[in-house]
This record gives sequence, C-alpha cells and structure tokens, in this order.
Amino acid sequence: MSTVLVTGGTGYIGSHTCVELLNNGYDIIIVDNFCNSSPDVAGRIEQITGKKVKLYKCDLCYDVEKLDEIFKENKIDAVMHFAGLKSVSESIKFPILYYENNVFGTVNLCKAMEKHNVKKIIFSSSATVYGTSSFAPYDETMPIGDVSNPYGRTKYIVEKLFEDLCNSDALWNVVILRYFNPIGAHESGLIGESPKGIPNNLMPYISLVAAGKLDTLTIFGKDYDTPDGTCIRDYIHVIDIAKGHVCALSGITKLSGVNAYNLGTSKGTSVLELINAFQKMTSRKVRCTFGERRKGDIPVVYANADKAYKELGFKAEYGIEKMCIDAWRWQCNS
Ligand code: NAD
Ligand code: UDP
Repeated sequence: MSTVLVTGGTGYIGSHTCVELLNNGYDIIIVDNFCNSSPDVAGRIEQITGKKVKLYKCDLCYDVEKLDEIFKENKIDAVMHFAGLKSVSESIKFPILYYENNVFGTVNLCKAMEKHNVKKIIFSSSATVYGTSSFAPYDETMPIGDVSNPYGRTKYIVEKLFEDLCNSDALWNVVILRYFNPIGAHESGLIGESPKGIPNNLMPYISLVAAGKLDTLTIFGKDYDTPDGTCIRDYIHVIDIAKGHVCALSGITKLSGVNAYNLGTSKGTSVLELINAFQKMTSRKVRCTFGERRKGDIPVVYANADKAYKELGFKAEYGIEKMCIDAWRWQCNS
C-alpha cells in the first residue's frame, strides 16, 4: 500500500484517477483550490469507491506553508500533478495567469517535494506540446516545443523543468503523460467534466446542444484535407486516461529519470464522426452548422501509443461509442 498526493484531484481527470487509485489499493490525499471544481467531488469519489478520501483546500501558488504542512502531516510516496489551468483561449487572453498558475505552481510543488524527500511524480502534459513541426501519428521521439499558444508553452516549460531536475539529481523519478483528447465520464454518472460557462471543447459542447442548453454546434471548418473535410482527433475515454496513471505509478520505480508517454488510442475520429456516433448512441439530435476554421487548429492529431503499451503495459480499452454514452449519462445527471 502506498499513499499518493493528487493535486487537482477534484477536477475532471484527477477525480477519475482518484477512483482508479482507490480501487487499486492506494491511499490518496487530494489537494485542490477548487478554482475549477467543487469539494463535493471528494464525497462522490467516496460514494463510488466506498473508501475514505483526505481532502485539503490549498493553492499551489499561494498556500506554500499549507503545502509544507500537508507534506509534514502525511507520509507521501508519490505525487500525481493534475492541478493547472487548461483553456487555450483563456491562456491567450491571460498569459501571466497561465504561466503563474501552471509553471510557478509546479515549482512550488517541486520545492515542497524536494524538502520532504518525495521525488516521484506523474505529470499531466498534453499532445499540444508536439506543436506543428511533426505530423500524426505523433510518437515520443518527435521534437516538442513548437507550440502556438501560452497554455501549451506552460506544459512544454514544465516538461523541461522536470528534465533539468532529473539531470541535477538522479533520485528524481518523473513520468510525463501526454494526453490526447480525454472525453466521457464515470459509468456511475456521479463524476464527469463540468466546464464553467460556454465550453471550448467539442464533446461538452455536443452534450449541451443535445440537452437543449445550447442551441447549435458550430463545426470549425469543412474543407480540411481529411476524408470528410473536418478535423481529426484521438479521443480517449477518461477512465482509460485514469488507468494509464495507475500503470504509470506501478511502472515508475522500474524507470529512471524523466520518461514521457502518449496516452491515446492511436485512432483518429473526425468531428462529424464523433457527432454521428453521439447521435446514434443517445438517440438525440445535435443541431450543427459549419463555420470558419478555428485559428491554430491542427487538421489531424492522433497518437502512436506503442511506447505506453511496451513500457507501462497500458492500452486504451474503450471506443467512441462508450465515450458518448458515458458523456451523455453525466450530462443528464448534471
Ligand atoms: P480540471 O480543470 O477539471 O482540473 C484541474 C484541477 O486543478 C481543478 O480541480 C482546479 O480547481 C485545480 N487547480 C487549478 N489550479 C490550481 C492551483 N493553483 N492549486 C490547486 N489546485 C488547482 O482539468 P482536467 O481536465 O482535469 O485537467 C487536469 C490536467 O490535465 C491539467 O493540468 C490539464 O492541463 C491537463 N490536460 C487536460 C486535458 C483535457 O482535455 N482535459 C488534455 C491535456 C492535458
Ligand atoms: N470543434 C468544433 N466545434 C466546437 C469545438 C471544437 O468543430 O465547438 C472542433 C475543433 O475545431 C477540433 C475538434 O473539434 O477540430 C476538437 O476540438 P477540442 O477543442 O475539443 O480539442 P483540441 O482541438 O484542443 O484537440
């Protein structure tokens, strides 16, 4: 049995990962400032798993003393670091906020870890770090950093920070997980993604249109060089992402230094294919219209997910259909 500190553990991906960790016999301690989640989520994690969750309200940027106390009070074996801001469009408007929260927050976390001699961490990065200099399928040998927005650059900088940390001290052990497009929700319908305001991402937008809470989905571009003219992404069930973290945690001790892995399905799905699958699986109509291309969108993004399978034993299990059903169940409960 070991204890994992989960930053951002009441958020979308963090909460699903907490469930998988508890189901696999780990103890967890959640640290979150609730800027994009609610403390109630901890109770829902307990309801799903029948296990206790220790929860602290703490901001990684500003509550440095509290963070130190948390490390003092608990015997922590490893950290999973989900806490961060994640909106590309918001990061373009408020870059300082993004650099402060995502980079400075991570620096504070690393300082506390170093002080308390906790040197194992799994970090939430993104496929966005591959940027525009390579093409799908993306694999981990490809260069990173040619990123077009501040959010993606904060992920790149934190990846480099971990590289430098591991070069300076061989006791640090870091797994970087580059997520492709996590969607779906827990089967219980008790936890899922709760975007504040009008969502930027495709799946939450589809769900809200299907529920009648938004009027029409605008499909950004219909003349891409893809089979149906719309962009292609690698959608992966959030439960698979969560399971990928558990595999990373059990594999981390066999690794040394910093290691990066894609978490994707290796399968591309177009915007139209996702809408059609959603309509079929839920029997709901999603009103759509075609609009202009969205600035910065890459036409085709999907993973080569072989490395995570070979080295961590992780392979995504669920298909688009289940992702749609689970997203819709969550929408109906929200
Ligand atoms: P989320 O917003 O649902 O969860 C993030 C959590 O972190 C929230 O609960 C928020 O309150 C908390 N938080 C933010 N800043 C904090 C701070 N300074 N101190 C303490 N808590 C803080 O987001 P998510 O979708 O669960 O994403 C988790 C991580 O995965 C993020 O780092 C995100 O950038 C990364 N990621 C997400 C996606 C995606 O599509 N959802 C894709 C790639 C990478
Ligand atoms: N998309 C769309 N309409 C929307 C939101 C997204 O057509 O309202 C498209 C977007 O152009 C992209 C795909 O859906 O091709 C996935 O977008 P999302 O923002 O979810 O993920 P990302 O582009 O960041 O991978």
